[in-house]
Amino acid sequence: MAAKDEALLLQYEERIGRYPMRVLKQHGIITKDRNGLVSLNVEKMTYEQRAQLRAECERRIGEFLAQRGLNTWDYSLIETDPVPNTIRYEVLKRDGSRCLLCGVSAKDAVLHVDHVVPRSKGGSNDMDNLQTLCWQCNNGKSNRDDASFRESGDS
Ligand SMILES: [Zn+2]
Repeated sequence: MAAKDEALLLQYEERIGRYPMRVLKQHGIITKDRNGLVSLNVEKMTYEQRAQLRAECERRIGEFLAQRGLNTWDYSLIETDPVPNTIRYEVLKRDGSRCLLCGVSAKDAVLHVDHVVPRSKGGSNDMDNLQTLCWQCNNGKSNRDDASFRESGDS
C-alpha cells in the first residue's frame, strides 16, 4: 500500500512540477492568500501522505538551497526589518532586475535589495540607500564596508 501511495505521489509531483500556479489554483491544489503566500491544500490527504509530502518538500528545499549556494541556517537571510515590498519592487525595477555588481539577472540568481549603508549603522529604507545585488555579491560585500555599486558601475 505504501509503495502504491508513493508511486501516486511521485506521479502527482511530476504533474505538479509541470503546471503553472494558475492551473494549480484552478484545480484547488494550492491556495494563494491576499499576501501572495502559497499553500498546498492538504485537507483531503491522509496523515501518511502529508508526512511524505512534507519530507519531499524538505528534500527539494534542501536541494534548491544547495544549488543556490545558500545555507539553511544562514541567519543573514532572515530580515528583522525588511524593505517594504513596494520599495523593493521599485528598486528592482530601477536596477533592471539585475545585480549591479556582476550583472546576473533575476532568473539566474536570487536578487537581494541591499542597504548601501546597513540598517545596523543607521541606513534607511529609502530608495537612494538601496541597491540590487545577487546573494553572492551581497555576501562578499558584508556589513563592514559601505560600498555602493550604483554610482561606479557602467554596465
Ligand atoms: Zn552579483
